Amino acid sequence: MGKNVATGSPMRGLHATCLMLMVLSGLHLSLVLLYYLDMHVYTAQLMQRFLEPESPATSAAPSTTTSQPLQPCPETSPHLVGPLRIEFSQSINLEEVKQINSLVREGGHFTPTECTALQKVAVIIPFRNRDEHLKYWLYYLHPILQRQQLDYGVYVINQHGEETFNRAKLLNVGFVEALKEYDYNCFVFSDVDLIPMDDRNIYKCYSQPRHLAVSMDKFGFRLPYNQFFGGISALSKEQHEKINGFPNDYWGWGGEDDDIYNRIAYKGMGISRPDGVIGKCRMIKHNRDEKNSPNPQRFDRIARTRQTMQNDGLNSLKYRVLQVKKYPLYTFIDVDVGGPGRPPSSR
Ligand code: BGC
Repeated sequence: MGKNVATGSPMRGLHATCLMLMVLSGLHLSLVLLYYLDMHVYTAQLMQRFLEPESPATSAAPSTTTSQPLQPCPETSPHLVGPLRIEFSQSINLEEVKQINSLVREGGHFTPTECTALQKVAVIIPFRNRDEHLKYWLYYLHPILQRQQLDYGVYVINQHGEETFNRAKLLNVGFVEALKEYDYNCFVFSDVDLIPMDDRNIYKCYSQPRHLAVSMDKFGFRLPYNQFFGGISALSKEQHEKINGFPNDYWGWGGEDDDIYNRIAYKGMGISRPDGVIGKCRMIKHNRDEKNSPNPQRFDRIARTRQTMQNDGLNSLKYRVLQVKKYPLYTFIDVDVGGPGRPPSSR
């Protein structure tokens, strides 16, 4: 018995060790095989990705392969971030703004490439001698409008000369001139010194004319009165045409936005607005412009909108374009709109 134990034990030990070694090398071999196969599949996938560009829109050469049509953009853009910190203490370098917004095309146009935008929006800014304000506007608005996934263009309509300022007529000019360039179906009319404080305040059109500047710092973040339609508004092409555009005969500050409100109401439409939090806006502080003092005739005119809107608007608009300049971040249109009781000069 003792002999058996003495000779049998080392033999059995050797046998077990050999068995273990065989099992381990088998395991090792299978792992190497698996790793090899996996690498093979991964490399094949990588090669395929290199051979097929991600999107035809980004490829330099025209693609001959059948491209997938883009899906419509979602109702709510996934890029929105909500409340924004807006301040005007640092001066803006337009060259840097241009670099940050490298996807904005000459003339201030942008089209999303990831999806088809739901609306084609022309942003119209009435303008004269406010270059510093325009820089802030471009700095803040271009990134916002891109995050909102809009197909948009920015038009700065400059009133040429020294005549009394006419905001509403410049907005009408912007409407007509922008349509000569592109098939816009929505128009956002914005003062140059107003910046939204929340990117959920979408610069697009709704089933009713939209008022966007509902909660301005200047008025303690509330509406100054219920019918207030000033600062920033959005009308679809149809809505703007339905009210015969804006009045052309409000020279100087005030009243034209109340006239527009009346036009909308007289045509049976209502006003759509974001809530008071999303609708917060900051205004850049400034002194009143020369040649834009309060218009003393405004109260009389507002009282007569129902009659005047028939013959004063898009159907009576007269102006002369002096120059159209395409800048990297906006299209500048210099225009002679005449003056109170004076038509624009003819060539
Ligand atoms: C004027 C408007 C102006 C509003 C708020 C009104 O009296 O008529 O044009 O937007 O005040 O300042």
